Amino acid sequence: MKPIEELDAVLKALNLNSENPGVSDGESWFGTGKTIDSISPINGQVIAKVMQGSPEDYERLIPKMEEAFCVWRSVPAPKRGEIVRQLGHALRDKKDALGKLVTIEMGKSIQEGWGEVQEMIDICDLAVGQSRMLYGVQTHSERPNHRMYEQWHPLGIVGIISAFNFPVAVWAWNLAIALIAGDVCLWKPASAVPLTAIACQKIFESVLKMNGLPSAISTLITGKGSELGDLLTEDPRVKLISYTGSTHIGKRISERVGKRLGKTILELGGNNAIIVTAKADLKLAAKNVLFGAIGTAGQRCTTTRRVIVEDSIYDEFSDLLQKYYDKVTIGNPINESNLMGPLVDSTAVNNLFTAIEAVEKQGGRLLKKPERLEGDAYSGDCYVTPALAEVDDNLPIVCEETFAPLLYLIRYSGGIQEVIDIQNGVPQGLSSAIFTNDLRESEQFLSATGSDCGIANVNVGTSGAEIGLAFGGEKETGGGRESGSDAWKAYMRRQTNTINWSGETILAQGIEFD
Ligand code: NAD
Repeated sequence: MKPIEELDAVLKALNLNSENPGVSDGESWFGTGKTIDSISPINGQVIAKVMQGSPEDYERLIPKMEEAFCVWRSVPAPKRGEIVRQLGHALRDKKDALGKLVTIEMGKSIQEGWGEVQEMIDICDLAVGQSRMLYGVQTHSERPNHRMYEQWHPLGIVGIISAFNFPVAVWAWNLAIALIAGDVCLWKPASAVPLTAIACQKIFESVLKMNGLPSAISTLITGKGSELGDLLTEDPRVKLISYTGSTHIGKRISERVGKRLGKTILELGGNNAIIVTAKADLKLAAKNVLFGAIGTAGQRCTTTRRVIVEDSIYDEFSDLLQKYYDKVTIGNPINESNLMGPLVDSTAVNNLFTAIEAVEKQGGRLLKKPERLEGDAYSGDCYVTPALAEVDDNLPIVCEETFAPLLYLIRYSGGIQEVIDIQNGVPQGLSSAIFTNDLRESEQFLSATGSDCGIANVNVGTSGAEIGLAFGGEKETGGGRESGSDAWKAYMRRQTNTINWSGETILAQGIEFD
């Protein structure tokens, strides 16, 4: 096993050590839970140790955060935006090292590792502008000399529970917007990627310290999801849970938070399809399908999992796509010439092969059978070749999200509404796309009878959304929205105000009470 070059330099640049406490109240670092190794899927090497948090550690964080909230909620929103602007700059300074650590700890290609940090910077920029645009509406009262308007106030403590596949961006999407909203944030990252979380928390702590602000505005607890997650979801002091992860756990969270009538943002699993009609530019479509299916080794919530192709162009498209598949370079993701790195761990690899068995059992045909890659260049046991399967319909296994590079090719022969119905015929509703140069087809795809997903694109693939508008999906994807547009409203509470300057008591609806 060849050690990862630059590992020491990356750890040093991010103030990480060979052993790291995994809990921070903003001021001090500790961790009285189990110590774990953070292992790189690149080669199975231990990157560093992390002392995870315990329920007792969790209890230490909350009172400090409540105190910090009392200060932060009264800081004017544009001034809160200024702190987020400084965070964006601190991230620019660390972009190279943080992007590399994302790649080392999670396994995505270095281009995508840097891209993820860029997304953090972008959301900070968006949040700075948003901090001056927390608009509430006003309207005319039915009563003379009265005024009515709506305003938005901070919520309090926001719990951010994130998935392994976007180890840093999901935190930033939530944190940047929650901060300008006046909230304070407690982050529980996925257990596979604790070091990137510790690095991010350290970067933001230095910004808070420089500004003399209470450091518990942002806290971190690493550890087991079932143990710490249950504490967070049950705790009425945590006003909003923003959860990104599998639908299975999302349902549990929704139930637990719902029981106490708390708020949630749920960003759950996807099962995203691209429709390719006879009017499509096939090369454009095939390139987008390839990036969508094998980018991040098929481990994005927006990964293209199904491609539904019109009968008359099916064979030509399938041949073209298979040629593209043959050119995919797989290997160490730090090497920029590799398009695909390893899966996150051996469980993910096993899940892929279990799904392949089910595909074959249910009547699917494998056009590209996945293989485990072995040998020195692939140590760590997490490298596979991407899979391509031909299926007749949305088979039971096709309706599931297999979080791996497994793409289903489906043939359709009906009209545009028939193919839209196939596309919509799965429980998830995150991202979707149509490739066509026919205006009628694309408009129908975007209409009320069209795609039922939160994201619907034309001649743009399913993965790689921009932050300017709201991000999220429908049905079993959970209905949450993050990032741009009016997603900020989920991080605040709405208040309707009526002000009487008439000097008289005038009741609404003309009611007399004398
Ligand atoms: P996961 O559901 O296994 O874990 C996600 C987070 O939940 C982790 O931090 C985990 O520790 C925590 N957790 C586990 N049990 C918990 C509990 N009982 N209560 C509270 N938290 C608990 O997901 P994963 O494997 O890390 O990520 C992959 C999944 O995330 C895929 O389904 C993917 O589609 C989804 N995802 C969705 C989006 C989106 O925006 N829709 C983005 C990224 C990932």
